[in-house]
Formats: sequence, structure tokens, C-alpha cells
Amino acid sequence: MLDNERVYLTLPQPCPACGEPNDGHYRTTNHGGAPDPGDASVCAYCLTVGIFSEEGGIRLPTRAEAAELAVDAEVQRAVRISRMWRSVLRDVPRWDWP
Ligand SMILES: [Zn+2]
Repeated sequence: MLDNERVYLTLPQPCPACGEPNDGHYRTTNHGGAPDPGDASVCAYCLTVGIFSEEGGIRLPTRAEAAELAVDAEVQRAVRISRMWRSVLRDVPRWDWP
């Protein structure tokens, strides 16, 4: 189930894989507050796991980071939650999204 305290909203950040804007991010760390550079973000459209960059956007992970993300339980949980929401929202026109 979605834990609202783990959702962090930002200005729309384009996904580095598909280019779609993501403005809601499921926190995979417990530090609270804004995501730190290096924190993961799952694209709600294509489920690519990106990394918050030092410059404030989201970038693709390096090979080493991707290997770590693949076995990180919290990141994989965020991917499952994002997949569930994507299936719920798939048929909703974007202009009707909350
Ligand atoms: Zn994407």
C-alpha cells in the first residue's frame, strides 16, 4: 500500500529514459525532507530507476549503481508500487490526474 509520508513532491523532473515529467517521488530512504543527490526515483511512466543528480534533475544510474538498485529492497518495493499505480492510471487522460 502507498505510504503517503514517503511521497515527496518536486517540480516536474523529466525521466532520463522516456522524458515524461515526474513530480511525485516515493522516498526509498528514511532521512525525510527533500531527496538527496544519489537517492533513487522510479519513473511512474516507464518504471526506470533514476538517480537524483547533484544538479537537481534525475539521471540514469551508472552500471555499479544499477547493480545496487537491483538488489535494494526499498527500491524494488518502490518499483512494485509504481507499477501498481501505473496500471491504475493507464487509462486516465493526463489532464484528469490529481
Ligand atoms: Zn520514464
